Amino acid sequence: MGIFVVTTSIDAPDAQSHAFQADVSRLLHLMVHSIYSDRDIFLRELISNGADACEKLRYEALANPALIGEEAPFAIELTLDKEAGTLTVSDNGVGMARADLVEALGTIANSGTRAFLERISANAEKKGDAESEEEGGAGRSGADLIGQFGIGFYSAFMVADKVVVETRKAGGAASWRWISDGKGAYTTEPIALEAAPARGTRVILHLNEESKTYLEPWKLESIVREHSGAVAVPIELRETPDAEPRRLTDGAAVWAKPRSAVTSEEYTDFYRSLAGQYDEPALTVHWRAEGRHEYTVLAFVPGSRPLDLFDPARKGRNKLYVRRVLINQDSDLLPGWMRFVRLVVDSADLPLNVSREMIQTSPVFTAIRKGVTNRILQELTKTAENDSEAYAKIWENFGPVLKEGLYEDPERRDQLFKLARFATTTHPEGGRSLADYVAGLKENQTSIFYLTGEDAKRMGSSPQLEGFKARGVEVLLLADPVDAFWVSTALGFDGKPFKSVTQGGADLKAIPLAEGAKEESAETTADVAVLLAFFKQTLESVTADVRASERLAESPACLVAGEHGPDRRLERILAQAGRAELTKPVLEINPRHALVQALAKRYGADADKSLVEDAAWLLHDEARLMDGEQLADPAAFAARLTRVLAKAAS
Ligand code: ADP
Ligand code: MG
Repeated sequence: MGIFVVTTSIDAPDAQSHAFQADVSRLLHLMVHSIYSDRDIFLRELISNGADACEKLRYEALANPALIGEEAPFAIELTLDKEAGTLTVSDNGVGMARADLVEALGTIANSGTRAFLERISANAEKKGDAESEEEGGAGRSGADLIGQFGIGFYSAFMVADKVVVETRKAGGAASWRWISDGKGAYTTEPIALEAAPARGTRVILHLNEESKTYLEPWKLESIVREHSGAVAVPIELRETPDAEPRRLTDGAAVWAKPRSAVTSEEYTDFYRSLAGQYDEPALTVHWRAEGRHEYTVLAFVPGSRPLDLFDPARKGRNKLYVRRVLINQDSDLLPGWMRFVRLVVDSADLPLNVSREMIQTSPVFTAIRKGVTNRILQELTKTAENDSEAYAKIWENFGPVLKEGLYEDPERRDQLFKLARFATTTHPEGGRSLADYVAGLKENQTSIFYLTGEDAKRMGSSPQLEGFKARGVEVLLLADPVDAFWVSTALGFDGKPFKSVTQGGADLKAIPLAEGAKEESAETTADVAVLLAFFKQTLESVTADVRASERLAESPACLVAGEHGPDRRLERILAQAGRAELTKPVLEINPRHALVQALAKRYGADADKSLVEDAAWLLHDEARLMDGEQLADPAAFAARLTRVLAKAAS
């Protein structure tokens, strides 16, 4: 690490003083100055750390039962001391050695934390603005974000001007004290055994002037009920250091109760502590699988996007228990395209005497994984069928993730197709299913047409769509990066192949024009054919072909892929990743367009071909821009445009 300065202090012989990692100092500053309005959450964070510590010890005791021995059952205790002005949160969990203290309470492990800091800073700057509802954005309060970033401990400094942590690692001989005022440094020192906790950790908060309210029992009780009601370790309150502890929560596992015994508030509480997200779950599924394997599952689809949904370094939030012992909290219980689901699985059948990694390779685990995935898919399908409004929200948040399954999991593709919803040319607001699409096929239409791009709104006005619009043919507007992948591997839906509108000839001729649409002259006139030949020669270095288009109605030109070429967007994505060479596109020209016809005449009449040559390049560049690409040579473009305008103006 190399960041902490170690010095020996005068009053305690083996005391060491350390500097916080720079990010921690920044974070602490922000905690106190920006997130301050939601101070209550410090308690939820400290209780959750205590509960985590108990679950860790329960797990370690599988291999070494002596670690727990005859000691008191797991509990988290809150102790008030009005005279001293302290609130103490203690647990009898796994505890920490000195190195753990320095690692866990002096640095930030999570790589996403920098992003968090940016958000909070941005928030602080915007302070005073109305809170925006912007998804996952800076509008969400910092307090709600803490739980997703692994920095909960530091929230103690919102309410305390001094924090003391006393801890003994289970099975360890020594005990340690960590002290800090949260202003850049902390000390660690050994403590005498009689002054140390028998097992676990106590966090002593010397409450600051504005936080004395946390010395009131009713206040703590209400915070615990609101934020920590579903914690799977009992929470007790001692109103004075000598008082008997009083139980606030029973620490029962919500998932182990029958559905009828759990209220929706309890489900929400549990979801929040599991997900580290403080919204309402969009879908709650709780079931007990019986038969060949017995296990209980409590799963949630979050009400909003987790911040790390597309972060490769994200931490999973799927807890695997074996008979109430937490084996793994980042368990591979779901395929990647379901990574937004938060769940707990508790199984009686998995072996307890093997490592975490071994468990994941056991056939029982594989069977559970399959069962869970299928059931959640079923529940999503049910929601899509019965509650389209709720489902629309789920799809909006997680559709781009579910669509990854369309190419990662061909076996479930048909099921996923039933869940997929799209924006289309006729339904730009989205929500169209493939079944709807197929039901609206036009006469002689045999394919499902799509256009890929970056922005569904802009794509809607693409010239490539004109011939489709003239025939009333619906086109899927696919704007997520993953779309280019699945659509190129999927064989089709309901016997209809997917076909890109930018790919090859568009098979449009067979489909009759919609009423009122402009009739196209079937044949390209001879002078236009000559013009196209000249264009082809002029643009040889950048296009594979120049030809007359049957798909254009309003625009003079557009770029498409060759007959058997890949979809243009997919090709671009692959090329960016260095996995494919860009092939030359085909420039399609609208032979009916007034500009094209005028150019054809000019080409035949004029000996000087320079205007038509400039026009060829400008039409090409314009088509490129409409396709969402940059100009290859902006200087040449500007020179040509100026020449042409000068001619037009003279
Ligand atoms: P997170 O809990 O998400 O890891 P925190 O900032 O809340 O982030 O805690 C940081 C780390 O400090 C924990 O991962 C754990 O290693 C350690 N820690 C905090 N509180 C305790 C405790 N009561 N017992 C044991 N370890 C703890
Ligand atoms: Mg924590």
